[in-house]
Amino acid sequence: MPHILIVEDETSIADTLVYALQADGHSTEWVSLGSAAVEQHRLRPADLVILDIGLPDISGFETCRQLRRFSEVPVMFLSARDAEIDRVLGLEIGADDYVVKPFSPREVAARVRAILKRMAPRLEPVAESTPFQLDTLAMRIAYRGQPLNLTRHEFRLLQCLLEQPRRVFSREQLLDGLGVASDVGYERTIDSHIKSLRAKLRLIAADAEPIQTHRGLGYSYSPEHA
Ligand code: CA
Repeated sequence: MPHILIVEDETSIADTLVYALQADGHSTEWVSLGSAAVEQHRLRPADLVILDIGLPDISGFETCRQLRRFSEVPVMFLSARDAEIDRVLGLEIGADDYVVKPFSPREVAARVRAILKRMAPRLEPVAESTPFQLDTLAMRIAYRGQPLNLTRHEFRLLQCLLEQPRRVFSREQLLDGLGVASDVGYERTIDSHIKSLRAKLRLIAADAEPIQTHRGLGYSYSPEHA
């Protein structure tokens, strides 16, 4: 949920903005002083700041300058006069948009949406990356760009683990994946395959531990340790 910081000393204006932005699915924080806005953005960085120019302590311009010292957050100015907007545009203090009072809260909400959409690629989480490349058809797995020389059983075992990261597989489940009937000594079979698999992985990354042991339960693939 995008978080919007509203800096406005007129309660009625702030109220209509809070209402319109929350109705649009944003979380909001409202402060009435420029200094409080800088403090608040330090504590909880907003995704966008709506900044009135005429504030009781420091001006919106000065507030923006102070925010810019540590943040690239998008800023939308609220202005009471067209003349102020000339300054916004002339000062090049990094305003992303502005509206002149009186304004429609719905228009402000629409502009906020537009700015956030423009920013979206920077806000999206990075897709989980894995150091393993699995080629099922060729029955090959590469680790950190280097092909692994695996036996058929080691390949099946690692494939099984990689396909469901973080899931803990029991030795019986892994044995099923190998297509080997479980009988006496199957635990040792799995353990010895895991041991040789780990040895091959360590040749490539000595400090990593992609295959985790869960005592009494089995094994899992941990992307965090790969
Ligand atoms: Ca004001």
